[in-house]
Amino acid sequence: MNKAIEYLVVGSGIAGLSFATLMAKKGKRVCVVEAHEFPGGFGHTFEMANKYKFNAQLHYVWNCGEGDTVNRILKKLDLDKTVTFERYDPNGFDHMYMPGYHVKIPSSSQELVQRFSELFPNHKDPIQQFVKTVNHVAEGLSHMSSPIKAKAVFSNFKNISIALSYLKYTLQEVFDKFKLPLPAQTLFASQWPDFLLPPDQLSFYAWVMLFTGYQRGAYYPTQHFEHVMDSMVNVIQENGGSICYNHEVDTFLTKGKQVLGVSGKNLVSGDSFEITGETVICNIDPKKAAQMIGWEKFSNSIQKKLDYEYSPSNYMAYVAVKDLDLPKYGFGKWNVFHTGHQDINTAFYDMYNHNDYSNPSFAITTPSQLTKHRGDCPPGWQIVEFLTVANYSYWRKLKDRDEHQYKKEKMNILWSIIDQVEQHYIPDFRKHMVFKMTGSPTTNERYCWCPEGNSYGSNMTPKNIGIGRLTHKSSLKNFYFCNASSGYAGFAGTFWTGAALYQRLSGDSIYD
Ligand SMILES: Cc1cc2nc3c(=O)[nH]c(=O)nc-3n(C[C@H](O)[C@H](O)[C@H](O)COP(=O)(O)OP(=O)(O)OC[C@H]3O[C@@H](n4cnc5c(N)ncnc54)[C@H](O)[C@@H]3O)c2cc1C
Repeated sequence: MNKAIEYLVVGSGIAGLSFATLMAKKGKRVCVVEAHEFPGGFGHTFEMANKYKFNAQLHYVWNCGEGDTVNRILKKLDLDKTVTFERYDPNGFDHMYMPGYHVKIPSSSQELVQRFSELFPNHKDPIQQFVKTVNHVAEGLSHMSSPIKAKAVFSNFKNISIALSYLKYTLQEVFDKFKLPLPAQTLFASQWPDFLLPPDQLSFYAWVMLFTGYQRGAYYPTQHFEHVMDSMVNVIQENGGSICYNHEVDTFLTKGKQVLGVSGKNLVSGDSFEITGETVICNIDPKKAAQMIGWEKFSNSIQKKLDYEYSPSNYMAYVAVKDLDLPKYGFGKWNVFHTGHQDINTAFYDMYNHNDYSNPSFAITTPSQLTKHRGDCPPGWQIVEFLTVANYSYWRKLKDRDEHQYKKEKMNILWSIIDQVEQHYIPDFRKHMVFKMTGSPTTNERYCWCPEGNSYGSNMTPKNIGIGRLTHKSSLKNFYFCNASSGYAGFAGTFWTGAALYQRLSGDSIYD
């Protein structure tokens, strides 16, 4: 038992690491307790066949340019010179493909309007109005994050009032309002795997933040995501802090409405452990933590905020290819988003509700095109990752019922995706494949410890995004939430979430 710990951080996800590194750098005694053998939560990296390194979930990130949130935090940690990022192609960071149409999403909004107007010449005005509104809302939202400054509200009144008027909108409702043609909607919404939600459920705010965030700059870490996480762990350790891997917490130690620490089991040795801290920071899912602590201990208003539904889960395929000239087939400093449907809502529900992957919609990421650093596989080999949605309850039941069938169906989805890849992008892709592995919702649950295999924490519907969202406040003494569901999801969002709590508890600023 270590009574000297000032900040006990439960979970080494990005928000937990962001908080813990900043506090350790500030000279505080920090201990991070992590169930997995690797740091990073959804952002952890694992190695296969002693050759290939795959990031569990992360593909590309935003807010990493000079002066952006991630860069400011890295500067504060003296990591900005070693943890660097490569920018995606500003002329087309995401390439969207659907039957009959193809568009590259550029950083410039003017160019974006131009490209969509060329594709849909009869809808120039609504396209222009839609993009204009997106930019107003993005600007408004940037001034609405706490703490709200009266001067900023006054000088940005127009943008803020436009943003507020879309508080409850889904992306689909905004498409409908502007009467965008269906293929234009599909192209705009092709980044749906970044939310694991279709337009008719997705919060317009969430879409605007991500879409414009990537427009400002989409990035990939120069030395891959593993280097980012390891560098942060080093900061903790170099500053006297510790990180305990394979430590699964099963109990929060409480006294009345105060959280004193945690206990659980070392998953390698089987030994039990108990660790206390003056302040406990909860990086694990807040709802799961509240269930462990006792729902009734939380105030009514926090209970209400904790009552969110989880975001859908996902399917990942981790592939290595050999001797494949990806640029020859149209791959480069961008992601490829493929949908075989005219309508993303239909594409999503076919897969999510009916487990029908006969015409899948998915994202393709190729790290070797994003950085020259070959730390993820030997020369001549390249990593290719595929991402789409998957239904947790279907996969959970299947795995429990019939492990063999579970493995077969997982592989069938990959073959269905590869069929599309060979038909539309790389005719002999299979010939180059030297390694393949797939991950289902139960894989997420097992290796990311996320309830129901959820992808982004609380679901990014209008109900969960915006006013009334859970924050770091837990209503318990010395106990704070610090993860995607109590801040913002994504690499940049969770970096920000950890830093915001650091600022709140230390009185320091990442802007100094
Ligand atoms: C498929 C997919 C693709 C994504 N792609 C991107 C992307 O391209 N770009 C982007 O910006 N974001 C992406 N994200 C989102 C991003 O990965 C997450 O929002 C972010 O990593 C969440 O971080 P977090 O700090 O909230 O915690 P988490 O990552 O949830 O970490 C929580 C940590 O707590 C640990 N833990 C849980 N329970 C216990 C316990 N009982 N005891 C001890 N430890 C425990 C877990 O092991 C984990 O390490 C993606 C997510 C998914 C699922």
